[in-house]
Amino acid sequence: MASHNNARRRTGPSPLPGASRALATLVVALATVLITGEVERVKRCPAEDCGWVFWDSTKNRSRRWCSMQVCGNRNKARTFASRNRPSQGRTA
Ligand SMILES: [Zn+2]
Repeated sequence: MASHNNARRRTGPSPLPGASRALATLVVALATVLITGEVERVKRCPAEDCGWVFWDSTKNRSRRWCSMQVCGNRNKARTFASRNRPSQGRTA
């Protein structure tokens, strides 16, 4: 008895969304560099725990963060917190 199993199912582990997203961004950035030659627009997110590579599509290349919603806001909050923090442990 030969039974054909045509119902192929994906049984492998699903890829990590974060990793695939980062990889996709990198691929897009590299492809765009190859096409346009604008290497200066490929930037790396300066957030310590991020390090994403992104494509700066702003006219004056002023974009700093991979995502203003994520790293931009996080940095803003951090700067705000450190500014409002009472100066402690400072021995001048
Ligand atoms: Zn980032």
